[in-house]
Amino acid sequence: MDSTAGPLNQLIADALAVIAPHVPRDLTWPILLLTAGLATTIWLFRNGAGAKGADGRVRKMPLRQFLLPTEIYTHLSARVDVGLYVFERLLRPLWVTTLLVGIAPSTEALIMDTLNTLLGSGPGLHSHYGWMLLYSLVTLLLYDLLFFLIHYAEHKIPVLWAIHKVHHSAEVLTPLIRYREHFLEGPIYAIGAALSFGIAAGLFGWLFSDSIAQATLFNIGFFALLFGFNGSFRHYHVAFHYPRWLSKWLHSPVMHHTHHSYLEHHWDTNLAAVTSIWDRLFGTLYIPEKDEYTPWGLGPASQGEYRSFWQNVSGPFRDWSAMIKGKTSSSSAGLHE
Ligand SMILES: [Zn+2]
Ligand SMILES: [Zn+2]
Repeated sequence: MDSTAGPLNQLIADALAVIAPHVPRDLTWPILLLTAGLATTIWLFRNGAGAKGADGRVRKMPLRQFLLPTEIYTHLSARVDVGLYVFERLLRPLWVTTLLVGIAPSTEALIMDTLNTLLGSGPGLHSHYGWMLLYSLVTLLLYDLLFFLIHYAEHKIPVLWAIHKVHHSAEVLTPLIRYREHFLEGPIYAIGAALSFGIAAGLFGWLFSDSIAQATLFNIGFFALLFGFNGSFRHYHVAFHYPRWLSKWLHSPVMHHTHHSYLEHHWDTNLAAVTSIWDRLFGTLYIPEKDEYTPWGLGPASQGEYRSFWQNVSGPFRDWSAMIKGKTSSSSAGLHE
């Protein structure tokens, strides 16, 4: 089955850097140091302003508080993050091996076989840096689209919102929140990631006669770097804006601050992972004003039901049982109450 040996096999074999099933790429020291370095630059340029307190309002702080505010890192929500993170990490290898490593190569093989059947063997292109960059870009756009669609569904469909709510129950933002998710949510996103990696790898595997690898920047996957930085900074309490024109193409970290806000005009906005393209196409893009107020969490009506570790782990099951019992007006079953 030579025809189905595409770049993804190579990717899985030696570039777990991209998929990273066991190592959270945005919690590496280089990414965290970059985050702290950029935050310090903001502090210098804005004379101590630019970081938000636990209440989601920007105010001036001395540098140490600006980088690591006590009110955020000792908050109950931040402590619960640690438990949810560890729990999710323990279960992750189970579904990563079964879903990601299972679905991605078979999707790649299916795409290559289908293209071979429909169009004959590929044009046998030879890869160079430009093609590798394009491969990275297509993978990123596909990943972002699948992420957007899954995330959109999670916000609009109550049965799925019950799972995703755990990510939104965070009352303060820390980089660990990237991994604050219910253990049922990981497999859903893994399917999306596996499909996008598989489709892109199948397409490019068909186009090229030799193997094609994604472009790397300083030996780190270009995609992984962008995604890692974005994931780390967008769950950090420092408001990092891009110029408005750039925000129309890439999500600035502060655009995810509004995603976590419980104010009604912020609901269901900025749903993609990296680019603004899909949110723009589907009408969910929201570019906040400088220092816009973003109180985080589920809001006063239901936050009390999502404070402890156990409340978060049992949350979806409580919601689903309320739905089954027909309590549609229940304060815990609806969207963004
Ligand atoms: Zn969300
Ligand atoms: Zn988030």
